[in-house]
Parts: sequence; structure tokens; C-alpha cells
Amino acid sequence: EVCLSGLSKSFGGVSALDGIDFTIREGEFFTLLGPSGCGKSTTLNCIAGLEQPTAGTITVGGVPFVAGRVNVPPEERNLGMVFQSYALWPHMTVAQNLAVPLSIRKVPRAEKTRLIHEALDKVGLAHLTKRYPHELSGGQQQRVALARALVYSPSVLLLDEPLSNLDAKLREQARAWLKRLQADLGITTVYVTHDQDEALALSDRIAVMFDGRTVQIGTPAEIYEKPATAGVAAFVGSCN
Ligand code: ATP
Ligand code: MG
Repeated sequence: EVCLSGLSKSFGGVSALDGIDFTIREGEFFTLLGPSGCGKSTTLNCIAGLEQPTAGTITVGGVPFVAGRVNVPPEERNLGMVFQSYALWPHMTVAQNLAVPLSIRKVPRAEKTRLIHEALDKVGLAHLTKRYPHELSGGQQQRVALARALVYSPSVLLLDEPLSNLDAKLREQARAWLKRLQADLGITTVYVTHDQDEALALSDRIAVMFDGRTVQIGTPAEIYEKPATAGVAAFVGSCN
């Protein structure tokens, strides 16, 4: 369970998040959907501990990550993250890329090898450990980034537009594949996208964001059939 309460963030006096509240259930595929600049990445970065909120609290599995003076460092949050650009380290092989988060967590060498193999197996790329990122297709890079996020068995997966660099056809395939993997693992997932079709296809629930606020939270059917505002209706392309 991921619980955000009154989460606000400003950058030098400019408000990016203005009181975000939601609770994501265990095992849920939860999507932040909204136009560019509405605060999706900032929300994810606050959960990951990469940004410090100006106000509000974040708890994950009942553990306060941000609350008053509490501020758990990112490497102790046990979250897996895939960034908006894949950000694989170009000078490292696939296996070396996956080893980094394990080294940070001081996992012993033999265990490391096993976990790297297991994670790559989950994304169907166990045969590519020795390749460099530039020797992989966009779709493969995206899977490696996902494997790297999964390698230490995080409790929550944070995905920031992970399919945005793929062409339309690959994106369709990756969508179905990602949904299956998430369901198989049963891992609580916070997904960020500005693509309404993607959000409607993948999510258990969606939070629609505008201007640093959530304007509606609901299932894809609820959002599509009963948009709370004209803005939501326009954005998700429904006709109410
Ligand atoms: P996109 O879909 O384009 O990725 P987003 O919804 O992820 O957009 P954010 O990156 O969260 O949007 O940005 C929200 C707002 O905060 C924007 O107005 C942005 O300009 C601002 N912002 C984000 N990061 C910073 C920063 N480091 N310094 C100053 N302003 C920032
Ligand atoms: Mg973003």
C-alpha cells in the first residue's frame, strides 16, 4: 500500500504539486495520467525519494518514508524505478547494469549472479547479459531497465513513461507484455503516462492529474464513462 497525503512540491516558489492525496492498494496497477507538466514525474520522484516534498506525507506498507522530520533515503525505500528515458549506463554490459543496485545493497557476489539471471529471465533476456546497451533494440533496452528495477525484488515498481521511446507497434506489444508481467508478479505498480489509451488498457485505477492536482481517481470505466470534469472528458477522449 502506497499512501500519499497532502503532498506538495514547489521549485523555487513555483508550485509543481498542490496537495496530492491517494492510496494505492497492494498489487494494484495504478496510473498517473495527465498532460505534460502536470506533475506526474515529480510525484513519482517524491515517492522514490529523489525529490524532497515541500509538504505532506508518504507511507509505503505502513512505513513512513516522508513525514515531519522523517525522510528515508532512496536506497532504503526498496522501490524499483524505470525512468522516463531508460538511462542504462552505456559503458556497462547488461549484467553490469543490473549489478549496480545489488552492489549498492551489498549483495554477495554469488547471490548477485543468481539474482541478475533471475531478473533477466523474467523479461526474457537471460541470453543477452554480455551485450552493451547500444547493441540492443529500444524494446530490449526497456526490458533491461525493467529487469534492473526488479533485480532486488522491490515491494513497489515505479514506471515513468517506460514505453514512450518505442514506436507504435512495439509499444502495443510491450503494453500487453508489461501487463502480464505485472499480474504474474503481483507487484504494486505506479505507472506514469500522458497516453490515455495506454492508461485505459493497463490500469486497475487511474488518477487524472492537471496542474499539480488529481482531479479524478477511478477505474478506467469510471474515468471514461463518467469523467468528473469537462477537462477530464476532453483529455481521455470520452464524449460526456
Ligand atoms: P511530462 O509528461 O512532460 O514528463 P510531468 O507531468 O512529468 O510532465 P513534471 O516533470 O512532474 O511533469 O513537472 C511538473 C512541473 O514542475 C512542471 O511545470 C515543471 O516545469 C516543474 N519542474 C519539474 N522539475 C523541476 C525542477 N527540477 N526545477 C524546476 N521546476 C521543475
Ligand atoms: Mg514526466
